[in-house]
Amino acid sequence: MTQFVKLQVLEFPVSSDVQWAVASPHLTSCLLPARHAFSVREGGVSEGPFASLNLGFATGDVRARVNENLRRFASALNVPPGSLITVSQVHGDRLLEATAPQDGDEVPPPLGEADGVWTRTAGLAVGVKTADCVPILISDAAGRCVAAVHSGWRGTDLRISARAVETLAVQGVEPASLVAAIGPCIGACCYEVSEELAFRFERAFGAEVVRRDRPKPHLDLPRAVRLTLVAAGVRPDRIDVLDACTACDPARFFSHRRDRGISGRHLSAIVAGK
Ligand SMILES: [Zn+2]
Repeated sequence: MTQFVKLQVLEFPVSSDVQWAVASPHLTSCLLPARHAFSVREGGVSEGPFASLNLGFATGDVRARVNENLRRFASALNVPPGSLITVSQVHGDRLLEATAPQDGDEVPPPLGEADGVWTRTAGLAVGVKTADCVPILISDAAGRCVAAVHSGWRGTDLRISARAVETLAVQGVEPASLVAAIGPCIGACCYEVSEELAFRFERAFGAEVVRRDRPKPHLDLPRAVRLTLVAAGVRPDRIDVLDACTACDPARFFSHRRDRGISGRHLSAIVAGK
C-alpha cells in the first residue's frame, strides 16, 4: 500500500545557471506537504558502479562528477546548491538543526556528525545519504518544519526516527500532525542478518520485523522504522512507505550490499516551506 508516485517531470527554476533540463525521475510521496525527492540512479554524470547520479564522495567516485550530481539534485529540488544541507553520518541517533544556507555554487560540506538533520528555515533543504539504509523524510502539516533521517540497523535499533519526532515536538510540532515518508532501502527480501541481530530486533520491535521463511533470518528495517514512528505518536495513516528494495532493483537503485561496497549513494531531501 504505497502512495509513492514516480514523477515524470519536476518543476525547474528558470535560471541561466541551471544546465539540467531533462525530466527528473526522482521519487516523491504525495502525502508529504513539503517539496522533496528521493533520488534514483538516473540523471547524473558518474560512470561505472557510480552511474549515474551518485551523490556521495565516500566510495571512490570522481569528486567533480559527484559535485555536478549534487548540483543537479539541488536543482531538481529547486534550491541553490548552498541551501542543500547534509550531515556526516555515523550510525548514531543525533540530529542537527540547519539554520542558514552557504554561499557558493557547490553543495556545502556536511554540517557535522549526525544521522538526522532538520530545519525550520524557509527555503533550506535537509538531506541524508543512503544505499540500503532507510531514508525518512518528515514534515509538519504546513511543510514548514522538516527533517531528514538516516536509519540503518544501528540507527533503527537506537530509534533515531523517534528522536526526530521528539526534536520536532520540542519546536511545538505535535507528533500526531506529522507526515513521514520512508524511502527506498533494502527490503526484507534481501536483508539477510545473523540470528543474533534477528533476535535483538524481535525482542525490541516484535516478531513481525523478522522474516523466517528461509534458512537465514531476514530483517524488515522499514517495518521497524514505521513501528518506531507510530510508537512516537505519528499516525499510521500519515506514514508513507515506498514499496521498493534497493538490492532488488539495480536499474533504479544503488545497493551497498548487492554491489559489495563499490556503489553510489542516494540523497533524500526535503525543503522547508514558508
Ligand atoms: Zn530485495
